[in-house]
Amino acid sequence: MTIKAIPLPKLSGFTERDGSWYAEEIPLADLAKEFGTPLYVYSKKALTEAYQAYDKACVDGQGKRRARVHYAMKANSNLAILNLFAKLGAGFDIVSAGELARVLAAGGSANKVVFSGVGKSTQEMTAALKAGVKCFNLESIPELTRLNSVAGSLGLKAPISLRVNPDVDPKTHPYISTGLKGNKFGIAYDDVIKTYQEAAKMPHCEIVGIDCHIGSQITEISPYMDALDRVLDLIKQLDASGIKIHHLDIGGGLGISYTNETPPAITEFANTLLNHIESKGFGHLEVLFEPGRSLVGNAGLLLTTIEYLKPGETKNFCIVDAAMNDLMRPAMYEAFHAIVPVKSNSKAPAVTYDIVGPICESGDWLGRDRSLSVQPGDQLAILSAGAYGFTMSSNYNTRGRAAEVMVDGTQVHLIRERETIESLFANEKVLPA
Ligand code: PLP
Repeated sequence: MTIKAIPLPKLSGFTERDGSWYAEEIPLADLAKEFGTPLYVYSKKALTEAYQAYDKACVDGQGKRRARVHYAMKANSNLAILNLFAKLGAGFDIVSAGELARVLAAGGSANKVVFSGVGKSTQEMTAALKAGVKCFNLESIPELTRLNSVAGSLGLKAPISLRVNPDVDPKTHPYISTGLKGNKFGIAYDDVIKTYQEAAKMPHCEIVGIDCHIGSQITEISPYMDALDRVLDLIKQLDASGIKIHHLDIGGGLGISYTNETPPAITEFANTLLNHIESKGFGHLEVLFEPGRSLVGNAGLLLTTIEYLKPGETKNFCIVDAAMNDLMRPAMYEAFHAIVPVKSNSKAPAVTYDIVGPICESGDWLGRDRSLSVQPGDQLAILSAGAYGFTMSSNYNTRGRAAEVMVDGTQVHLIRERETIESLFANEKVLPA
């Protein structure tokens, strides 16, 4: 079988120079030597540029803020990344009390936090109310009823918004589509007005916004425009029934290029949506974006070392020291990541391999049918791994999770130490004798 050359994503933090890959000004091979592998490597420059691309659209020509980024930190919740975005002015979109604690530990402000997710517990609601989050994005009447009672018991009023399920097709992988009727997310479009009317009767809730999030890795703008028009229509109907909406949260979901995808550029995407909102007469609303992947996905990669090359009858395997526990996306969604040798190796012949990890599952693969000229001991970089990479990693097969570093020009900072084996079972206990 002949394998076509795979287009690489456009990256601003990682470059190839004379056959060697660099993170900003540092050769990846040096990082592998200093910190070991598997290693997540992030570029501060790429993170900053992605944030600034959103922020450019969020502030108008007169310097007036017309929208704000609330980083969906489930994509990558390392404290150094949260701290960087907080310093740049971001708010956060959280989905658990654990994420709230991370925001606060990283120097973020609770009053710039929106709390999403379909299953908030009483303890999580209590923590978020006490911290003073900006808004709870609610997804059902039972959740609304519970929040009203928790806020009442604390003598507080909960700021709320309802997540609308606009029933639009985001044209993405079914596991990451969230705004269709059959998904568990949001309040069915036809029930939204009556649910707001219920919410308006809750003494310990205060309606402040409306929100919607239709899915992830969306590479076209049209599903957003459809969802937006449907939500703007609801805001009009709510206004007519005496319910005032102050902010409109249009969710996240903008896709990135993993290979040859061509999603809209961030600034153009954000400007198109904001201009549309203004042109429809809703310029008075505060607008929130909740991007995750588009801020961090192409600002990170996963470095791994080749352990063995294993020729087979129908397939050749390149067995590396990273595995599905480090990067779940291929096993979970058959997701594609471009994979490149960190240094070109002129001694090795080009062979087509499946790149697989050491885990005892046939689903433990990171790339399929890739032509590589490599030998054991060489390193590979798995590109576009900054989003839903480390945060989805696990300790399956009692493997410690990878270390993480952030590169800033010629400097490198260890932002998470590699987990030690002892730490993996430190909280476990054997039965008494
Ligand atoms: N907002 C909500 C409510 C989400 O569930 C998600 C991701 O699933 C996001 C934002 C971020 O999506 P993305 O990383 O695709 O931008």
